[in-house]
Amino acid sequence: ELLKGEKLRRHMHNCIQELRGNIRVFVRTRPFLPGDEQDKNSPINITPDGESMSIIDRRSGKPLNFHFDKVFLPSAGQETVFQEVSDFVQSALDGYNVCLFSYGQTGSGKTHTMQGCGNGPMRGIIPRAVEQVLAQANNLSTQKWAFTLSASFLEIYNEGLKDLLVSIHSGQNSIHGQKLSIKRDNESKMFVQGLTTVPIDTTSSSEAKRQLEALMMVAAQSRSVASTKMNSQSSRSHSIFMMQLKGFNEDTGASVCGALNLCDLAGSERLDRSEANFDSARLKETQSINKSLSCLGVVFNSLAIGASHIPYRNSKLTYLLQDCLSGDGKALMFVNLSPTTESSGESLCSLRFAQRVNQVELGKATKNIAYTKT
Ligand code: ADP
Ligand code: MG
Repeated sequence: ELLKGEKLRRHMHNCIQELRGNIRVFVRTRPFLPGDEQDKNSPINITPDGESMSIIDRRSGKPLNFHFDKVFLPSAGQETVFQEVSDFVQSALDGYNVCLFSYGQTGSGKTHTMQGCGNGPMRGIIPRAVEQVLAQANNLSTQKWAFTLSASFLEIYNEGLKDLLVSIHSGQNSIHGQKLSIKRDNESKMFVQGLTTVPIDTTSSSEAKRQLEALMMVAAQSRSVASTKMNSQSSRSHSIFMMQLKGFNEDTGASVCGALNLCDLAGSERLDRSEANFDSARLKETQSINKSLSCLGVVFNSLAIGASHIPYRNSKLTYLLQDCLSGDGKALMFVNLSPTTESSGESLCSLRFAQRVNQVELGKATKNIAYTKT
């Protein structure tokens, strides 16, 4: 059978993913903003091919080069970014366990990338992904596919899980949700016991959109936000928007079960900069953030070297998302950077983390890439 058009494109996407491993790294640098330092000379330089970049090392004054799957220009808007992500979203409908992360220091654009702003052109990956899933599920209904979609939204804070949608039925804003625990279901998939799961109406896109907006508002209200010196809206927790996608074909009896996890990670900044170390509650937060982010790095590293034991269980984040970080899972890491010179130290840390992640997919590939020494 000949593959054409959209089908061919998706087939190619999956082949490329298989060849290169199922982990991608994209770098997105935000534009300068009014609150940034005066000097608008960014230490970051992106090559025209959109795959390489350099950053001036503050100590040596020399540029350090990096190569990734995609490096966006600061001018790249939400639409442009989503275009590069839509194949991943599609994979979830094809039955893959897909996870997108946004990683970076506070203020680098993680939430802008994942959630964005409003319902217009500034909306981010979460609303766009939901729109795409709904449109595709609708398209596939002509081929007798029936999809059941459901959404959950949770937060990992100090290694504890919190249901962000717990008040959606009760209508009250609950500060502490019930105790949640990560379990394996009888098909060996990870799930969170006790988590609110909201069925999404696939028959009406306007109703689905309304449902999603309501859901986002509930989630935003219940997020725990603590202020630090760096950003008064700073989020010290990981938030994960989860979608389950189950499809059944009435003609053939075939079924698929995919998952799409969109994960806005806690700020990766080091302790000293935000002066969080003067407060013991902040210290605990920072330690658990560092723990889960470094666990994520260790998991990626273990995958890279083909280790027989992958330490998923060392953090809630990696334990919950292990289906996406193994087997037929697919992961995409956004590394968000601030363009300022002041942030160059943190940016370099983020890039080095990303470089380790990137080596996962290149473990067996032949592509010849020179890495900077770390
Ligand atoms: P983080 O979640 O990493 O702390 P935010 O997403 O909250 O960072 O971004 C910090 C600020 O920068 C916000 O005001 C956000 O609107 C703005 N911002 C981030 N990325 C972009 C971008 N690509 N274009 C325009 N503004 C952006
Ligand atoms: Mg944020």
